[in-house]
This record gives sequence, C-alpha cells and structure tokens, in this order.
Amino acid sequence: MFEPTLAGSLPKPSWLAETHKLWPQWKSAGAELTEAKADATLLWLKLQEDAGLDTVSDGEQSRQHFVHGFLEFVEGIDFENKVTMGIRGNRYDALVPQVVSELRLKGRVHQAEARLARAHTQRKLKITMPGPMTIVDTVADNFYGDKVKMAMAFADLLNQEARALEADGVDVIQSDEPAFNVFMKDVTVWGIDALHRAIDGLKCKTAVHICYGYGIQANIDWKKSLGDEWRQYEEIFPALAASRIDQVSLECANSHVPPDLMKLLAGKDVLVGVIDVASNEVETPEQVADTIGRALQFVPRERLFPCTNCGMAPMDGEIARRKLEALARGAQIARERYGK
Ligand code: ZN
Repeated sequence: MFEPTLAGSLPKPSWLAETHKLWPQWKSAGAELTEAKADATLLWLKLQEDAGLDTVSDGEQSRQHFVHGFLEFVEGIDFENKVTMGIRGNRYDALVPQVVSELRLKGRVHQAEARLARAHTQRKLKITMPGPMTIVDTVADNFYGDKVKMAMAFADLLNQEARALEADGVDVIQSDEPAFNVFMKDVTVWGIDALHRAIDGLKCKTAVHICYGYGIQANIDWKKSLGDEWRQYEEIFPALAASRIDQVSLECANSHVPPDLMKLLAGKDVLVGVIDVASNEVETPEQVADTIGRALQFVPRERLFPCTNCGMAPMDGEIARRKLEALARGAQIARERYGK
C-alpha cells in the first residue's frame, strides 16, 4: 500500500551536465559522455533505492530535455535550424527544432539506459516519454500542416519505442503530457486517441503524467494567473477515466488543484504528487503523510501511489535526494496511520 514512486526526471550531476537548468549543456561528448550518462543513471538508481522508492526510473540522465531527448532520435527533424516558438499556449518561448519531412525512428531511443537500469535494479522500473500532444507543442511543423496528423505520426514512433522498452523489461511506460492542462478541449477530441495509439498493444503498466510544470519562473508566473482554484483537471479526468491508461500522475502538494477532482479518476491508479518540485523546502515525512491523508478522501488506498508533483530535473541534486527520502518515509508513516 502507498508504494512511493516519482514523476521521472532527476537532477544531473555537475560532471554530466550544467546544473539547475531545463535545457542543460553536456559537459563532455562522444564515448566519455556515454559513460557519464551511464554512471549518472546508476548513481540515481542507488539513491532512489536507498530513499525507499518502490518504482524507480533512469532519472532521464541520458536526455538533455524531456521532449527534445526523444526528437533527437527521429529522422525528419531539423535540429540545425531551430526556431523560437511560444509553447504551452504561449506561456514561454522555446528554441525548437522543425519537422521537415516524413518522420521515422533512427533506431532505439532509450535502449541503453533502460537495459542498464533493468540489469541493476530489482525494483519496478519506469521509463518516461513525452506524449504526442506535448511533442507537437514543442516542435515547429514545416511538413505535415496538420497538428493531429503530426501527433498521430509521433504516436506511431512512440509506440514502436514503447513496445521495445516493454521487451527490455520495463514495468511502467509513462507519457508526459503537460500540454493536457493547456489544451483541454483537444484532449478529449484527439489527445487521448493519440495516447492510445502510443500505448497500443502494451501489456505493461501505462501512465500519463499531467502537471503544472517544472518549478521555473514562467510556470510560477502562469500559476499566479490561474486563480485560487485550478480546475483544468476537471475537464480532462472523465475522459482519462474512460481511457485505456492504467495510471494518472498529478500534482497535489502545495497546489491550488481542488483535491476532490481526484474522484473523477475512479478505476485508475492515482500517482498523487506529495512533493512540491517548485520549492527547495524539503517536506517533512509528516507533511507527506498528511497530503496522502487528504488524497485518501478521494482515492481508494489500493489505488493511491505517493509521487512527486513533477520531474525534478532543474532542482538541486541534494535537495532532490532529500525530497525522495521524505516521500518514502512519509509513505511509511501513512501506512501506519491509514493502513488499517
Ligand atoms: Zn510535470
């Protein structure tokens, strides 16, 4: 009960990449970089196990950014001529590559880190990939001329990689869809169809992560504009409850999301964000247990998995490590408090 897990990304060590950045530059190249990525993956696996997480991830140590890390492996994308584009409903500008021809995978995307992690942990292993809607919101289209058509093309590539990850022994494949909280109408019209296409044929657990973003300034400003109650989830959860996705990862700690919206996910595992990634203040285990207690009013205990609100990539490494510890210890307290 209350098996702790995480949204996905973790900070990169200073010897691997620039720290405290969402789009960090690598510190080395070639074989040296490959080795550094593997070392960082193993380091975080150990730290996640020591913290006490039941489902661990590769910490996304092998990708520069959660969307572009996937796009780098796709043929038909021009990374040489990036353009500035407003993303997430023009919340902030990003320098994005362009789709210039038919999309095809160059080969495996996350094979190295998935197999490495699988060989070195007995815990359940999660690998995350960007969802189709979030991808099309983070790349410029110079070829398809139709957002949905392009999303479906990406979904096919995601599915190809997801099936291979499942064969590598991955237990949970998660699609990160922060764009679901921005284009709520599109979610019900085509977003979930695209997700279904991305997870088609999988037998492992499938998850979707929907949040209010990393703790970067643009997101903090955006959240201030959303008012006292954030009800975006209300528009998309009923459709997700009816979907074939097994798990929904959402934010809850220090959030203005009304917790009763979690009721709309009946029948799904709910990965409840009990760790705030936009604050450097480390939660106490008691605070984590309290947040679990609040969620428990709306989520059955066998469906509740304590998690982080979002990825931790831009955070300080030591703070992230201590937050993971608080997460697992808080889950332990919750088991004692609410277990009977
Ligand atoms: Zn997130």
